[in-house]
Amino acid sequence: MQAMLIDSHCHLNYPGLVEDEDGVVERARAAGVSAMISISTREREWDDVIAGAERHADVFATVGIHPHEADQHPDIDTAKLVDRAQHPKVVGIGETGLDYFYDKSDRNQQRKSFYAHISASRQTGLPLIVHTRDAEDDTIDMLRQGSRDGAFPMVIHCFTGSRRLAEACLDLGAYISLSGIVTFKNARELQETARIIPTDRLLIETDSPFLAPVPMRGKVCEPAYVAHTASFLAKLRETDVQELAATTASNARKLFTRLSA
Ligand SMILES: [Zn+2]
Ligand SMILES: [Zn+2]
Repeated sequence: MQAMLIDSHCHLNYPGLVEDEDGVVERARAAGVSAMISISTREREWDDVIAGAERHADVFATVGIHPHEADQHPDIDTAKLVDRAQHPKVVGIGETGLDYFYDKSDRNQQRKSFYAHISASRQTGLPLIVHTRDAEDDTIDMLRQGSRDGAFPMVIHCFTGSRRLAEACLDLGAYISLSGIVTFKNARELQETARIIPTDRLLIETDSPFLAPVPMRGKVCEPAYVAHTASFLAKLRETDVQELAATTASNARKLFTRLSA
């Protein structure tokens, strides 16, 4: 495949990938991946994730605090995020959001952190990378309220929510990113939703090292595997895989404007 796929969400600094960073990046290139966005989840990762982006022309970074980590970052504020986002290879704010499934952090603290990220996205113009699980109403409320206070670009990453959530987020201008989960046999409902996402709002990702798509399920996931998710989605959406790769990559470049800077 020509180099046009973009993995919009991976964790290159996580165990499973970090031990063989150069190999992971080379295999992604060989699979046609032209850019990988390495997402941070804790403040102490920011230096590492940015350093990884400095080592490879096609790797990019983000700054953010995962909702699981909100309790560990009681003093996270917008200014800190905005400051680190000045680095030219930082292309987005996140991942942030709400996770009421695992409830690893206090919900109020999750919302407070989410709000700080929304403001940072608005101030920098860099897209907000939203993680949301079992928290649809609060996610919609916060994104709507945030948008009323001033527009900001966003992506709902590793989308697994309801059709209602997809539609509410699309109404706010969000992009929707699908991971290997959509290839799983038991993901019927998600596959139905995946069919109706407008072509110009669709992104793809691995969320590696997690969630390896079929036929790699059970293995350590890596950015190269985004090609499997692309093939699956092309079939599901009755389009050509080259076409799907090209449109999702062009969408990613539109959203993550610093990828092309
Ligand atoms: Zn996530
Ligand atoms: Zn992630």
